[in-house]
Amino acid sequence: MANAHPVRIGVLTSGGDAQGMNAAVRAVVRTAISRGAEVFAIFEGYQGMIDGGDGIRPFGWDDVGSIMAKGGTVIGTFRSSEFRTWEGRLKAARNLVDRGIDRLVVIGGDGSLTGLDLMRHEWPDLLAELVENDQISAEKAAQHADLIIAGLVGSIDNDLVGVDSTIGADTALHRILEAIDALSSTAASHQRSFVLEVMGRHCGYLALAAAISGGCDYVLIPENPPADGWEEEMCQILRTARARGRRDSLVVIAEGATDRQGNPISSEYVRKLIEDNLHESTRTTILGHVQRGGTPSAYDRWTPTWLGVEAVDEVLNPTVPGEAKVIGIRGNNVVRLPLPKAVQDTQHVPDLIAASDFTAAMDARGPSFNELDKIFTELSKPTRHAAPEGSKRIGIVHAGGLAPGMNTAAAVATRLGISRGFTMLGIQNGFEGLRKGTARELGWDDVEGWIGAGGAELGLRRTVPSMEDLYKLSRTMEDLRLDGLLVIGGWNAYQAAYLMHSERSRYPAFQIPIIALPASIDNNLPGTELAVGTDTALNVAVTSIDMIKMSGAATTRSFIVETMGRYCGFLALMSGVAGGAERVYLNEEGVELGELAYDVAWLQRSFASGRKFFLAIRNEKASESYTTEFIGRMLEGASNGVYDVRTHIIGHVQQGGEPTPADRLLAARFASEALTQLAAALETGKPTGAYIGLQSSKIVTSPLSHMLDYMDIEHRRPIDQWWMQLRPVLQAVTDDVTRLVRKKGKEK
Ligand code: ADP
Repeated sequence: MANAHPVRIGVLTSGGDAQGMNAAVRAVVRTAISRGAEVFAIFEGYQGMIDGGDGIRPFGWDDVGSIMAKGGTVIGTFRSSEFRTWEGRLKAARNLVDRGIDRLVVIGGDGSLTGLDLMRHEWPDLLAELVENDQISAEKAAQHADLIIAGLVGSIDNDLVGVDSTIGADTALHRILEAIDALSSTAASHQRSFVLEVMGRHCGYLALAAAISGGCDYVLIPENPPADGWEEEMCQILRTARARGRRDSLVVIAEGATDRQGNPISSEYVRKLIEDNLHESTRTTILGHVQRGGTPSAYDRWTPTWLGVEAVDEVLNPTVPGEAKVIGIRGNNVVRLPLPKAVQDTQHVPDLIAASDFTAAMDARGPSFNELDKIFTELSKPTRHAAPEGSKRIGIVHAGGLAPGMNTAAAVATRLGISRGFTMLGIQNGFEGLRKGTARELGWDDVEGWIGAGGAELGLRRTVPSMEDLYKLSRTMEDLRLDGLLVIGGWNAYQAAYLMHSERSRYPAFQIPIIALPASIDNNLPGTELAVGTDTALNVAVTSIDMIKMSGAATTRSFIVETMGRYCGFLALMSGVAGGAERVYLNEEGVELGELAYDVAWLQRSFASGRKFFLAIRNEKASESYTTEFIGRMLEGASNGVYDVRTHIIGHVQQGGEPTPADRLLAARFASEALTQLAAALETGKPTGAYIGLQSSKIVTSPLSHMLDYMDIEHRRPIDQWWMQLRPVLQAVTDDVTRLVRKKGKEK
């Protein structure tokens, strides 16, 4: 027998609000509709479920239009004490069953997910009581015998054990960095110290990530309280920095920071400490709810979109029937964790901290958190501030196109290099500079301010050395007495590193370790899921798209927006997902005339039935023939005056701007690993040639000698591109004609 009642899914946001919840709601609503289910928005968290009435509303495609750029959650969130009671959950169950809803997607913190799982467990008993009280029929109860759930974690704290990021954390970090930048500029004018308190009662992620990406002096986090005597240590670090010429001091403190005995450390205590010891004006800024505010970052749009699609698929087809899942991002991939365990592990961390088991608390935060902690410790408490006499010499050179975060990588490499006992040389203007020998020793203070700076202070050129250049290059490298080389950049940088490494038998100067560090907005490099600069470029593209959308708000308009990326569609697809585009044209898939014709006809019909806006993204090299201009004209020609068409090329601004927090953190992690690899190679005397990358949340190294095996050389992009998984995600949340075309084709 066919299913008599339609599948109905409820979606709600609960607990503390977080930016990006809207993207998740939008994705849940649209995917549910795409998959043929009905979807209900439950307003004000669990309270709406208890109150029923207008608190539970059927939602359509357009109800979630244009919400992705909004902060907070448009369906409201609430801390419902009534839901903590059996009676409350009984009312909620009745309201769900009355509407035929037996699948729920909840976006909230660990508290919200605890409540959700509790209700799932109690569901049969709740329904039995409702039947007994004649509030629902036995037949209805039988129709909805199970409550099927999926949880997404919305939490700016980034505190869920087992995932890399929670919805809202990246945007919160953006807000914190904006505050740090603002404070640094005022502090620098007055030689002032600031204590910045950020959110995180039990999780130090925001504080630690902000301290690294903001180039701060000291950090206090709950999981790793400072050793006794930290007060003197902190003041000494600030004094040293000031004596070296740093004009401002910034201490970041997580709201839940304590000492090793568990006594809270307040920001006021730290402020007074600095004022009394350094005898200078010190101010405290408690960021508070600013961190929850503002428009979500690109990351907090594409990840919740992906998670929302997966959550709907999970409740429609549970991976393990009868097992509740929390769905999150780990290593640029979606993972489904058993919900009760993930929540328990998360809620166990405060117990570990309370029991002074800081090692276990740090372990629970995962490897990348620990890596960041180590990097910050080394940057704030280096072994030394100056290279020892006669130390090995490591050159840093940029090559390829500009990528935001190149400075961060160079600065972190310089400081960690000095701390680890190397002489660091900055080579000016790429390989051209190396050929000419324009290099200078980089001291600790020379890179002050580079961490958050856009551009490339060392200068860069796109040129890859030719075979003829190699002799000259090897001579200058001998003159510079280089013992190792760190090449930071895109495909040109990789090619240069590859060439030198391959020619090392002919040129003894190249028989040194050479490490390439990926920095390219195109994200087209082998061995890494992300390159430094991609997150910034994506944010620029998404901000541009937001403005473009606003500019078209008062008219009936179609936009074709072109992103950079050369032959690699990363920026186009990801900004399409994060910017709410309905079509994305990629070189990887090619653009066919039939598909364009279909899109045009569909658009004509769609505008005729009331559509006001259309947005397509085209990768700059999606197709040689069907240019952005061409597609624009094609749409215009078919418009019959119903809508107008604008094309917009975002262009080089994607390479500009200050690096985002995510790019700074990635650059710091890459730089640290590059230095480790260089040191290991120098230790063993091996002329290692390698490139660094991010794979499944880990920083890995791959040999240069095999680099070409992983590349589609003609198109200068990796053969495997993980982000193509986002293609079906975009299709689920847009009115996908491509799918219809294919379906039609099959039906014929
Ligand atoms: P968060 O979800 O951000 O952790 P809370 O812990 O305040 O925020 O939880 C949000 C809501 O989830 C609560 O107001 C309550 O309605 C519900 N909830 C939390 N914990 C439980 C619980 N143990 N039992 C039932 N409901 C709960």
